[in-house]
Amino acid sequence: MSTDLDLVLRAPRAVTPAGETSCSVGVRGGRIAAVEPLDVPLRAEQVVELSADEVLLPGLVDAHVHVNEPGRTEWEGFASATRAAAAGGITSLVDMPLNSVPPTVDVEALRVKRKAADRQCFVDVAFWAGAVPGNLGALRSLHEAGVSGFKCFLLHSGVDEFQPLDPAGLEQAMAEIAAFDGLLIVHAEDDATIDAAPRPHGPRYSDFLASRPGTAEDTAIARVIDLARRTGCRAHVLHLSSGEALPLVRAARRDGIRLTVETCPHYLTFAAEEIPAGATQFKCCPPIRERDNRELLWQGLAEGTIDTVVSDHSPCTPELKRLDTGDFGAAWGGIASLQLGLPAVWTEARARGHSLVDVARWMATGPARQAGLAHKGRIAVGADADFCVLAPEESFVVDAARLHHRHALTPYAGRRLTGVVRGSWLRGRRLDIDEEPRGVLLTRGET
Ligand SMILES: [Zn+2]
Repeated sequence: MSTDLDLVLRAPRAVTPAGETSCSVGVRGGRIAAVEPLDVPLRAEQVVELSADEVLLPGLVDAHVHVNEPGRTEWEGFASATRAAAAGGITSLVDMPLNSVPPTVDVEALRVKRKAADRQCFVDVAFWAGAVPGNLGALRSLHEAGVSGFKCFLLHSGVDEFQPLDPAGLEQAMAEIAAFDGLLIVHAEDDATIDAAPRPHGPRYSDFLASRPGTAEDTAIARVIDLARRTGCRAHVLHLSSGEALPLVRAARRDGIRLTVETCPHYLTFAAEEIPAGATQFKCCPPIRERDNRELLWQGLAEGTIDTVVSDHSPCTPELKRLDTGDFGAAWGGIASLQLGLPAVWTEARARGHSLVDVARWMATGPARQAGLAHKGRIAVGADADFCVLAPEESFVVDAARLHHRHALTPYAGRRLTGVVRGSWLRGRRLDIDEEPRGVLLTRGET
């Protein structure tokens, strides 16, 4: 029996790859060194007993976060975003390549990004790069530099310095990425479909929704599937909102196409019918759709067609949300929710009969695998000792002012959620957001 452990967590309830169990988890040198039944004595310098109302989960991995630093640090930054993550039970996040300036589209920009992040992250951080017009020659070197994969848009991204790929550019990017077996992650909304839809304007949510029809997603996803079939490129659909696209995904998978799909807490929580006029804190692209569509997404998760749930945390300054006019056409599209993902998803998941085993698969194990973070996302020997301690029966009302991301604005404000994060552990040490940050910068595939 190991006697040289640094830490033992004794958990009457824990989620491991074997399911929900009671166990003792032994930690040595920041890694999990033992997972034993609770009655097997494990000795360590520090022993932590979880209480009967707590569950030990793997630290969550949020594979879709817009940190926006450097360049738009007044919107969000590494210190504030990773504080929010730590408070929300997220121990690793993967930063998106756009909204920061420069966008992460070549190795030099990645160096600038990593330098900006260095020594101010409270949780571990990995990076996505971008596939944009003109950077085909940079993709392989970015892959070799350890990015998790490449994000592209098929329509205007919202910022001019990150341009979309046209159909020919998309095919070239996928052929190149397939050549080194990388991963393309796609904002899948079709340009032409959205151009043909009415312009978004004014404070009525239904007008905004009509400007971003679900068929735009379905068309774009069909194009990605077609090119994945032709090029062999692994592809991932970001922030799926249209439940109507799920049959396409099912059929592609049946054909052996390597395609994964994520959705977000806001698509699983809110419904278009309930969004008040002028409430631009609910604006994101693709948009939150109707109640029936939300249930299709839940069905997609239940059957495994949707693999992961990630925040798509994309905040901005309060002014850019145009709350004064409530104009959905003029407001920035992006939802701030990083710290709330776990309670938001758990609140809705338990109401539909799902377990914390499901939630851990969607929010820890799945995103870690997708982003190539080999030692994250599970409570198993050899993995990093990253944990989230959740009180799953306790509830709270969201007070936006007490969240740690930069601006106190979120569509969850005032909402009662079930599941309180009591603490997080990063590589064997309890996370304290008032201490020095200890997060490190991760590279794909690192063991
Ligand atoms: Zn995003």
